[in-house]
Amino acid sequence: MPEGVWGENISGGVLAYVWEVLYNKYEKKAGDCMDVQVGDILQMKKAHPCGGNMFSVKRVGMDFRIHCDTCGHEVMVPRAKVEKNIKKIFRGGVEVEKNPPKPSKTTG
Ligand SMILES: [Zn+2]
Repeated sequence: MPEGVWGENISGGVLAYVWEVLYNKYEKKAGDCMDVQVGDILQMKKAHPCGGNMFSVKRVGMDFRIHCDTCGHEVMVPRAKVEKNIKKIFRGGVEVEKNPPKPSKTTG
């Protein structure tokens, strides 16, 4: 099986940069940053057609590649869409905060 099924082989250096800038702007406007890493398990609000709602993260970037733990399918989903659908994030079997509280400023 060739690897470029998801169109990764397109010379996307500049394009990727543009997307990163756009998404960064979008994320800043949205105000929350989700800390999703490769290897995390995502519990999604919306279940996969197979009925499963647990996905493992294979790749992060402007698109996420997530793997359905129930039926084994892999899908590419735009980051914004994934983040909207995340219910819980598990890392190393432990639930992590989607939006970690900002560190309180120490005065003085
Ligand atoms: Zn599935």
